[in-house]
Amino acid sequence: MTTQDPRADDRYSRQTRFVGVGHEGQRRIGAGRVLVVGCGGLGTVLVNLLVRSGVGHITVVDRDIVEMSNLQRQLLFEEADARAGVPKAVAAAAAAARINSSVEVRPVVADVTPDNVEELVASADLVLDATDNLQTRYLLNDACVKLGIPWIYGGAVGSTGMSLTVIPGDTACLRCLSPTPPASGTTATCATVGVLASAVAIVSSIQWTEAIKLLVGDRDHLNRTMLYLDVWSNDFQQGEPLTPSPDCPCCGQRRFDFLESTATSSTTTLCGRNAVQVSPGRARTLDLGDLARRLDGVGVVSTTPFMLRLEAGGHELTVFADGRAIIKGTDDMALARSLYSRYVGD
Ligand SMILES: [Zn+2]
Repeated sequence: MTTQDPRADDRYSRQTRFVGVGHEGQRRIGAGRVLVVGCGGLGTVLVNLLVRSGVGHITVVDRDIVEMSNLQRQLLFEEADARAGVPKAVAAAAAAARINSSVEVRPVVADVTPDNVEELVASADLVLDATDNLQTRYLLNDACVKLGIPWIYGGAVGSTGMSLTVIPGDTACLRCLSPTPPASGTTATCATVGVLASAVAIVSSIQWTEAIKLLVGDRDHLNRTMLYLDVWSNDFQQGEPLTPSPDCPCCGQRRFDFLESTATSSTTTLCGRNAVQVSPGRARTLDLGDLARRLDGVGVVSTTPFMLRLEAGGHELTVFADGRAIIKGTDDMALARSLYSRYVGD
């Protein structure tokens, strides 16, 4: 059959009529291969929009299970997913199949690490960052710059959001802007300061739009700045256009420190103790008093001069001033890293 299925034509008609897409653009979208890293607030909106717009091949990777506190903003999940503790990637793929049976969504339940990131990235035309931590973003930046694959940064916390499109060799990369991630425990997380669904939905909608521009081949309209928005104060800002820095350790000097795992955190199970230790990759000093104030109300917090203890959600986190943490109540390393990101931050 050479004639197009008329139902398929109708399905995407509002998109193909848009001058930036057209029928040729839609064909390219259908052939597109997109990796979505993380399936929380940003990831669920992204998968939803990618599937509805007919992106042909989507891989979604996430290490967590659905929880009730996700449902306020994670738009593919329902109460039954949280009650059953379904892995987010699996729940997203099941929801996607109900929305559009003609696209392929491959769920990967895994932590993205230096061991698997290149294989995941290599099979994609572009990568969408929907993670909740900067360690993984720096790892994605390394892998994408090394392999020459575009990636789109997105982040939302509180009422604020940010996005940046990285085209290796053309635009600035994450390490051009900030050669090293901020010190551990200094960044706000959604568990400590909350997050509005609208901030998440706007940032992920911007990311989706950038992805569609890349898939249809329109590089002239890409976002080449760090976009910043605050939905509560109605503040929307675009920075200066960014260009690659020749001094950048990653895209300038092609040093991939995070891929080589010298700078990423390590996780080890503590045998027989139902506990996992998460160690930051670099020497760092946490202000435990500041962390205690930020975790106030999140759970039961106690401190000594040497450590902070948080009891929340059936787990006990003991955090030391060097950034190391012992997480009791699990031997699941991915869950431990997730809890670390959620409560301690990057
Ligand atoms: Zn760079």
